[in-house]
Amino acid sequence: MSAVVTPLMQQYRDIKSRHQDAILFFRMGEFYEMFYDDAETASRTLGLTLTSRNNGGASDVPLAGVPVKAAADYVRRLVQQGFRVAICEQVEDPRLAKGIVRREVIETVTPGAALADDLLDGGRNNYICAIAFVDDCFGIAAADISTGELRLAVVDARGIEPLLARLAPRELLVASSHPNFGGAEGALTTEREAWEFDATLAREDLARHFGVLGLDGLGIGTDDEAAVGAAGALLRYLKELQPAGVSLARPIVERAAGVLPLDEMTRRNLELIESLRGGATQGTAGTLIDVLDRTMTPMGARMLRQWLLAPLANKTAIDARLDAVDSFAQSPIARETLRTALAGVRDLERLGTKAALGRSTPRELASLGASLSRLPAVRDSLQDAVGVRGASGSLLEERLHQWDDCGDIGDDIRRTLIENAPIAVGDDPTIAAGVDPELDELRSLRDGGRDSIARIQADERQRTGIQSLKVGFNKVFGYYIEVTKSNLALVPSDYQRRQTITNGERFVTPALKSHEERVLTASERIEQRERELFDALRMRVGRQVARLQAAAGTIAMADVLASLAEVAMREGYARPRITNDFALRISAGRHPVVERMMARDKFVPNDVDLTQDAFVIVLTGPNMAGKSTVLRQVGLIALMAHVGSFVPAADAEIGVLDRLFTRVGASDNLARGQSTFMVEMAETSAILHTATARSLVLLDEIGRGTSTYDGVSIAWAVTEHLHNETRCKTIFATHYHELTQLADELPALRNFNVAVREVGDRILFVHRLEPGGADRSYGIEVGRLAGLPGPLLARARELLRLLESEQLVRPNTSSRAAHQLGLFSQVHPVVERLAGLELNDLTPIQALNLLADLAQQAKEKA
Ligand code: ADP
Repeated sequence: MSAVVTPLMQQYRDIKSRHQDAILFFRMGEFYEMFYDDAETASRTLGLTLTSRNNGGASDVPLAGVPVKAAADYVRRLVQQGFRVAICEQVEDPRLAKGIVRREVIETVTPGAALADDLLDGGRNNYICAIAFVDDCFGIAAADISTGELRLAVVDARGIEPLLARLAPRELLVASSHPNFGGAEGALTTEREAWEFDATLAREDLARHFGVLGLDGLGIGTDDEAAVGAAGALLRYLKELQPAGVSLARPIVERAAGVLPLDEMTRRNLELIESLRGGATQGTAGTLIDVLDRTMTPMGARMLRQWLLAPLANKTAIDARLDAVDSFAQSPIARETLRTALAGVRDLERLGTKAALGRSTPRELASLGASLSRLPAVRDSLQDAVGVRGASGSLLEERLHQWDDCGDIGDDIRRTLIENAPIAVGDDPTIAAGVDPELDELRSLRDGGRDSIARIQADERQRTGIQSLKVGFNKVFGYYIEVTKSNLALVPSDYQRRQTITNGERFVTPALKSHEERVLTASERIEQRERELFDALRMRVGRQVARLQAAAGTIAMADVLASLAEVAMREGYARPRITNDFALRISAGRHPVVERMMARDKFVPNDVDLTQDAFVIVLTGPNMAGKSTVLRQVGLIALMAHVGSFVPAADAEIGVLDRLFTRVGASDNLARGQSTFMVEMAETSAILHTATARSLVLLDEIGRGTSTYDGVSIAWAVTEHLHNETRCKTIFATHYHELTQLADELPALRNFNVAVREVGDRILFVHRLEPGGADRSYGIEVGRLAGLPGPLLARARELLRLLESEQLVRPNTSSRAAHQLGLFSQVHPVVERLAGLELNDLTPIQALNLLADLAQQAKEKA
């Protein structure tokens, strides 16, 4: 690097040194310039041309720039690819600057700290999470700066993954000293210094930020230290990114007892918000949220998503939601009026936050005002819905008691702004007439000036006798008088020539110029005054952000409840009966997503009962029979009930769960560099360690990723463990029909199969659940359906007969000895070892190592 550095580059380096981890957009006139590595990164990612700038010394500096007007799009693209972008502006008028213009970074945009509409998705929150680790606990602080939401939670090691899976943060803050924390899928990880997570320091910062003396008033207790530390680090970071400040509502403290944790695996396998095939990018087709989301507002859509990812685990709370959904279900009129009123309500939460941050445009404030005018209609329909049930103390009634339709804020906006307010203060008027006497006077002055100018045209025509004389305006010369060539001889001597055009000349007169002066200064002052008045309005509205957020919360809730009722009625769902008992009974249950993919009434409903006497179901049947569908529909119905939704069943009795696990098929996690089998075992191990008797465990095909004997042994042992130790409600779908023999040993285990009918040597899927195990796998028939060639199928049948007759693989057998010994004709050493295991004493790592060991042994002995 050269020794001589221009003052400009010196300024650049100073600023850049404070924003090392961001791409610095350095404002120079009408461009943002990037230098050095930033320029190279930007040219690579954005396809910009890389040039160079002479640095005053020997070396040239790589340079790339984007026009200020188009910058938003470039920022969006960089941030979406996981970069941070620091926006450095000129903070003084270049015309007034002595020496080099002062520059400052006014904002750093990161995936987790984004406010621009094109970086946000209306239907979901954009969380940034900080994680602190204190005494075996994780403290989480999650903020969505676009809505002003702040959540705090403390969870144990088992709770962290489900919580992150639910929040799906865009960015994670962790202490740099934190021992290898795995991060979260799709989130940028930002390391911060360990001291920033200090709770004592954070208590002071939080109290100051929320203007309270102590944190107890915010519902934060002494058990929340870890979350407080995380919140402190988060606040500090956000202040760095947004030096002008962020607007955050008082924190919501989440208590783990209230929610049913869903881990990433379960969320994915039940396809709650993204389908297994599509992933996040494919939209929501084929997911539960796609079926359930009939919300009318973005706040409603976000809340529904939150509810789905954090179902309740408390009967009273669930019943309260179900009551409210019931009210709307029973009152189609209230539902319809509500939905009509909500149709005109925009994103109150984000619009309010934007006002508080001083970022809203006139059009956005106007749309906030228009949205607020809908609130009385919303209240009326809520009252109607409450009236239907007459239930006092209900969820909706509670909201109605605290109702505030923010009428004064809406009136203020509507009174102040002109109808059809523009995108920016400037060319078009923003402030309505009658709001400000000074503005009105300036306007009449300007209009008067314009009138006088119009009058000049008539006067001059008369004075000169030139009938075609015109007064015009352009940006360069201002007002002028235009005379065509043929009339030039008639031009009086006081006209001053300014411009020659193709068929004439343009002149000015002292009178014209003095009026022009008045018009132009008035226009300039009008713009300035409008800006002042608009800023003041925005500030008044911004100060009410807490009320706007509360209203947004009520609206979101009403929207979600009505949406759930709408779906329930449209799809023929029933209200589940929530109990504190063990049993989970579903009559004529359907899969909410699969049933919608077929013609009405084509889906075959099934009953599933899990009770104290029979809580483990082994589900067998050929491929494509419908095992996974039944399994997932039980999971989805249980989950929907815990959310407070009606369910696709004729009747459902749901004992409140503490955990719901769903592990389906072989889900690769190549991104994390683990083999399919390893992932499967890790997921199974996590379930075995976490499930309790209050949990529902749904397993689809455990042990597939390894040899048959391995697989059967593991599946066998897992089932025994769940039955004997955990004693949780379990459905185990498997194509190992050998497992059906477990029913002889385990009293609370029942065999079911998804029936198929054999027609000749063909099979017909009827999708009906029947008691008893399947005795064959029908794999060859499925192969035939899939189009395997005829001769190959004949050969496969022949081989199967051969294998079965030689008992290489022993199918379900009726011999007494085989029953007593279980699966194999002699006790396999692997089974022996498994039987002697105390799983509760194993750590997950030990369990994995042991499994690997067992698998190896099983392979050798097979
Ligand atoms: P398996 O897990 O036994 O291989 P799936 O559960 O994947 O089978 O079901 C295969 C297909 O059968 C589903 O995609 C669906 O189209 C259909 N199906 C499953 N269950 C039903 C049902 N109850 N009614 C109607 N069709 C069903």
